[in-house]
Amino acid sequence: IWNQANYDLLTQLPNRRLFSDRLQQEIKKSQHDHSQFALLFIDLDRFKEVNDTLGHSHGDYLLIEASNRIQRHLKETDTVGRLGGDEFTVIIANLPDPSVMTLIAQRVLDALAAPYDLEGEIVYLSASIGITVFPEDATSSAELLKNADQAMYEAKKNGRNRFSFFTPMMQAMAQARMRMTRDLRNALGMHQFSVYFQPIVDLATQRIHKAEALIRWQHPEHGFISPAEFIPLAEETGLIHEIGDWVFHQSAQLVKRCLPLTNHDFQVSVNKSPVQFHDRAHSHQDWMEYLSGLGLSGHNIVVEITEGLLLNASSGIADKLLHFRDAGMQVAIDDFGTGYSSLSYLKKFDIDYLKIDQSFVRNLSDEGEDLALCEAIVTMAHKLDLRVIAEGVETTEQRDMLAQIGCDYGQGYLFSKPLPAEEFMQLLERASP
Ligand code: C2E
Ligand code: CA
Ligand code: CA
Repeated sequence: IWNQANYDLLTQLPNRRLFSDRLQQEIKKSQHDHSQFALLFIDLDRFKEVNDTLGHSHGDYLLIEASNRIQRHLKETDTVGRLGGDEFTVIIANLPDPSVMTLIAQRVLDALAAPYDLEGEIVYLSASIGITVFPEDATSSAELLKNADQAMYEAKKNGRNRFSFFTPMMQAMAQARMRMTRDLRNALGMHQFSVYFQPIVDLATQRIHKAEALIRWQHPEHGFISPAEFIPLAEETGLIHEIGDWVFHQSAQLVKRCLPLTNHDFQVSVNKSPVQFHDRAHSHQDWMEYLSGLGLSGHNIVVEITEGLLLNASSGIADKLLHFRDAGMQVAIDDFGTGYSSLSYLKKFDIDYLKIDQSFVRNLSDEGEDLALCEAIVTMAHKLDLRVIAEGVETTEQRDMLAQIGCDYGQGYLFSKPLPAEEFMQLLERASP
C-alpha cells in the first residue's frame, strides 16, 4: 500500500506525493548546508500525438524508456520523479555552480532525443526542460515547482527540444557558457591554442633549469581567454584529454630544442588535471611513445598535479602516478599550501617537487608569518628529500629571501613572464654561456 501511494506503477519512480516530500527534505538540507540545488521540469514534446497514433502500450514503453534514459544520465544522489502523464521532475543536489546545469540538461536532452526502437519501428521524441535554482530563484517547494514549470513552457515556446532557465540572468549565463563550450570544441582544430613557457630558475646559480608549459587561447571574437576560465569547461566536457595531450606534445618538442643549450639537463613541467587521470588507462604509454619518438626520455618531463588528486586518490590514480614515475617522469605538487597540505601522502606517493603557492610568496616580508611558513615548507620538504619551487616571484626582495631560506627554484615575473616558444628559446640562448 505504501508503495502504491508513493511510487508510479509504470516507471517505478517516486510519484508527485513522494517527490514533494523529497523536495521539502532537499530544501531543509540545502538551507542547513548553505548549498544550492536545481529543480528540473521535463516534459516530452508532442507525446500525446505519439501516444494516439501508436497506441497506449507503445506509449507506456516510451515513458519507461524515457525514465530510464533520464536516470542513466544523472547521479545516484539526484532524485527523479514522475508527476503524471509525460511530465518528469528532477532534483540535482549539491550544485557547485548553477552553470553546470547547462551540460547536465543538454546531456538529458540528447539522451531523450536518441531514436526509440518499438519492435522494429523507429520513433523519435524530444523533450523540453525548465530549470530553477534554489535558493537563487525561490525557497519554497510550491514556488520552485511553479518556476520550473514556467521555464519549461518558455523552452516549448522557443521551439522545443531545449532547456530554459527561470531567471533571465541565469539564462544569459547558460547561453554564454554553451557558446564558449562550442567554441572550445573547435579551438584545437582552428589552431587557436598556443603554449607559452615560463622559466624556472635555480636560485643558487640563477640558471634556467626548467620551464612550465601554460596554455593560451586566442578566441577570434573575445580575444585572449584565461586558462582559469576555460580549463574547467574542458574538464567537464572531456576535451581536456585532447587538449592535455596537445600541450604535452608541444612541451616535448620544446624540450628537444632546449637540450643542446643546457648540457642536456632541462625539464618542462606540464599541468595535468585530475580528470586526465580518470577513465583513460594508457595515457602514460602514449606519452612515453611520443617522447621516445623524439629521442627523449621521461626525465625531461615533470607532471604538475594538485593536492586534491592525492587526497581523493583511489588505487587507480595511485597506479597511474606510479606509471609516470616508473617512466622516469617527476611529479610536482602545484599550489602547495592552499589545500589540505597533508604531509603523509608526500612520502607515500614519492613526490619530487613542491610548488609554494603565489599567495605565500606575494606577502613575503622580513618579519611576516609567510616567511616562517615558506621556511617551514622548505625545511620539511628537504627532510623528505623533495625540492621546492616558489611561484609568483616578482621582486628581488622575494627572490633573496627565498634563496636565504634555502628554496631551490623560483618562477615568476621577476625572471620572465610566460613566453611563446620562439621567445623562450631566445631567452635561453642569451642566458646560456
Ligand atoms: P598554475 O599552474 O598555478 O600556473 C601559474 C600561474 O601563475 C600562470 O597563470 C602564470 O602565468 C601565473 N604567474 C606566473 N608568474 C607570476 C607572477 O610573478 N605573478 C603573478 N601574479 N602570476 C604569475 P595562467 O597561465 O593564467 O594559468 C592559470 C592556471 O591555469 C594555471 O595555474 C593552471 O592551473 C591552469 N593551466 C594552465 N595551462 C594549463 C594546461 O595546459 N593544462 C591544465 N590542466 N591546466 C593549465
Ligand atoms: Ca602549475
Ligand atoms: Ca601554481
